[in-house]
Amino acid sequence: MDRRGFISKSAAAGMASAMAAPAAFAGNEDPDIRSRFGKLDRILKQPVFRKHLFSSPVIIDTLDLLVSGSSYICRVRSKDGAEGISVAHNDISFLVPIFLRKLKPFFLGQDARELDLIIEKVYNFQFNFRYNGIALGIPLATIEFAILDMMGRIAGLPMGQLIGDLHNTEVGVYCATEFRELPLEEHFAKIDEAVAEYDFKALKIKIGYMFAGSRNIHDKGLPGKSEKLIPMVRNKYGEGWSLYADSNGYYDAESAIKIGRLLEEYKYSYFEEPVMFDNFLEIKKVSDALTLPVANGEQDNSFYNFRWLIANDGIEIVQPDNYYFGGFIRSMKVALMAHAFGKACTPHMSGGALGYLYNIHFVSVLPNAGQHHEFKGLGTQVQFSCPTSPLKVNAGKIKVPTGPGNGIDIDPDFINRHKPL
Ligand SMILES: [Mg+2]
Repeated sequence: MDRRGFISKSAAAGMASAMAAPAAFAGNEDPDIRSRFGKLDRILKQPVFRKHLFSSPVIIDTLDLLVSGSSYICRVRSKDGAEGISVAHNDISFLVPIFLRKLKPFFLGQDARELDLIIEKVYNFQFNFRYNGIALGIPLATIEFAILDMMGRIAGLPMGQLIGDLHNTEVGVYCATEFRELPLEEHFAKIDEAVAEYDFKALKIKIGYMFAGSRNIHDKGLPGKSEKLIPMVRNKYGEGWSLYADSNGYYDAESAIKIGRLLEEYKYSYFEEPVMFDNFLEIKKVSDALTLPVANGEQDNSFYNFRWLIANDGIEIVQPDNYYFGGFIRSMKVALMAHAFGKACTPHMSGGALGYLYNIHFVSVLPNAGQHHEFKGLGTQVQFSCPTSPLKVNAGKIKVPTGPGNGIDIDPDFINRHKPL
């Protein structure tokens, strides 16, 4: 690119950023930041899906959402009879009309080899970007996972390897715990129970009081509890454990820095969502003040937000959620932006159902995977077998299936119980 092209591109990048975070970017003419934005923009433009693996078109003929009670699956079929299945995130029940009316019509008749472009352009279709966030992300990811399953079966590759090189044949996991509404001793005991369920060597605790279950608008939480819990957990599990803490955006910058110093003292490995996820200036303020890495991104729904935090060095670990953020391809672009600046990706894992399976496929192809990844148990309503992995936690790790597509064989009777919507 010539210099002039570069400058005009950087200016455009600056404007886009100003739209994402006006107070932060206004007047920022730092050439170093401009060049960082330029680097990230080039990554965002790179296709992720490995189209070259497919020599002939794979035209999407049918795309169905099927339901049985509270269980939803997606089935895609090509004109040539190839088939892919995905299991939807539990929250799709709220989003069925978006799947059926805002997304499905765009996919029918497309050549699935153009998946990068399809995923990008579906945001423009019917101004779908107005629904950006979980509303669009969950049904879109559900469709993408079914297509990746189909394409993986055609190519004879696991779904992860359609978007990246294999980096991790096993995925280290941490025990993700909740219980923040409980008093200290009960909270501590529940952590112990959760940790005992699998063979873990890493743990994430919830700090602060962003309690999703409270309807009491005067609820003041449990002041001082986190300050006691942080050392208790370290003392109990010892130096050999990796510990993480997540406040789900509970703190303001000043109190996040204060509790972050305690996390540093007790050698926690990162602080997740110290302040509200979209408050970039505060996230950067916390990150600048602490040596402890700051992680963020599970609620984020915009490339621009991640891009701003990475370019401005306001984050160390990106955590897109494969469902919420609209699938592997979009999440991989975030991971690759982070990778370009030496930052790690530990995707947020949601979804019950088969969330953990999709998560380990994704992590298997991350060049910058964190050491441990979110894990919330193996419980699922889905009936399946997996010939290439026991899908168990052994010494803190799960082996990634190596079979094609999603790598599992879902029981046909289970699928047949589901009826198209
Ligand atoms: Mg979290």
